[in-house]
Amino acid sequence: VIELIGFDADDTLWHNEIYYRQAQDELRAILSPYQQPGRIDDHLYQTEMKNLDHFGYGTKGFILSMIETAIELSQGCIPSSEIVKIINLGKQMLQADVVLLDHVQDAVADLAGTYPLVLITKGDLLDQQRKLGGSGLTAYFQQVEIVSEKSPDLYLNLLQNLDVAPICFLMVGNSLRSDIQPVLDIGGQAVFVPYQITWQHEIAEEADWSGEPGCHQLEHLGQLPDLVAQLNS
Ligand SMILES: [Mg+2]
Repeated sequence: VIELIGFDADDTLWHNEIYYRQAQDELRAILSPYQQPGRIDDHLYQTEMKNLDHFGYGTKGFILSMIETAIELSQGCIPSSEIVKIINLGKQMLQADVVLLDHVQDAVADLAGTYPLVLITKGDLLDQQRKLGGSGLTAYFQQVEIVSEKSPDLYLNLLQNLDVAPICFLMVGNSLRSDIQPVLDIGGQAVFVPYQITWQHEIAEEADWSGEPGCHQLEHLGQLPDLVAQLNS
């Protein structure tokens, strides 16, 4: 029986990755005098991975990684006016409109009438708070957790604090790595709702999870209330 439902935020409730891809397109244009496009994407990703331990997830770390990439791939030749353009790309991301995915508003409102909902997201504190505020969904969540990493221990601690057994917890998200695998690992249930595009880092091997008990997959959140009703019937 499901007693508590957890939601991921970025690319589960609202669009996010699309803004990163747009910024990356612009970065490619800015760096085109210095490097091949494929090399730029690759270098940026490697830089982000190297910087994760320092900056964590989110837009601010992404901006710094874009700047580092620009300096390295131009071998220090990029003018400061171009660096300013990169900083402004990041500032645009931090001011982008919050656009809910289809069916989210109705599904969340519906489920909040019956179940306690928690929001569990990585990213920059200020930016995630801003997006939640802009989403209009704040009132539906009993608790909001903005965390540095979604590990099995993170989920376990959260459930212990809320006095909910893992088997009674259902996590909904677009990332196999962050939203699905760690929850299945602790004996919880998970609903994978793939987004149109996935950041390379969040992709997990399909073989690791498909067919696991407790794992469900939906095309969109509009299908979630029926699934939860079915699980609890
Ligand atoms: Mg997500």
